Amino acid sequence: MAKKAPTQPQGAYKPADISPQRRVQRRYSVRLWSIRHSRLLEWVYARFSSLFLLLHPVWNAIGYGRVEAPVKFVEKRVKGFMFDCRMCGQCILSSTGMSCPMNCPKQLRNGPCGGVRANGNCEVEPDMPCVWVKAWEGSRNMVHGDAILNVQPPVDQSLRETSAWLRVTAQAAAAREAAAKASPATETTP
Ligand code: SF4
Repeated sequence: MAKKAPTQPQGAYKPADISPQRRVQRRYSVRLWSIRHSRLLEWVYARFSSLFLLLHPVWNAIGYGRVEAPVKFVEKRVKGFMFDCRMCGQCILSSTGMSCPMNCPKQLRNGPCGGVRANGNCEVEPDMPCVWVKAWEGSRNMVHGDAILNVQPPVDQSLRETSAWLRVTAQAAAAREAAAKASPATETTP
């Protein structure tokens, strides 16, 4: 005879909101707005990152280490509000349709797991749209949306709680300087 599955004793307390994610998170409306407006945000971010790169001499003069704390303070609040950012320090929003992959309960950075529900919601958080379903939707609105097809490296946990804005800027500045060294500008003679 088949065993009966154990049932909860009658009257046992069962919280109405049993999802740990939902207990700590706001509603998803702002996050979803950002994904719907991924093209606009892609444009804004392109300008913003150019401005940050323009300010590279300023960051350099003050010291990247010194500006880390105030920049991180702002980044955490702005991205926390708009994307529910978890400050992984290696931002790939531009490659994920402005949907933060760190909101995936499994923190998958290269696409969804096999548990996406038929309605497009997460298997772990039944009321949350799968961040990768949303990432694909967001990426379809973006000019460089095909970046979603790039394979992402594993998260470097040592970079948690650091500013991705500053690191991307420092990397871009270093790449620019290396390119300038590799191909010195041809001198024009009068
Ligand atoms: S990918 Fe990382 S840095 Fe970017 S929004 Fe998500 S947690 Fe924040």
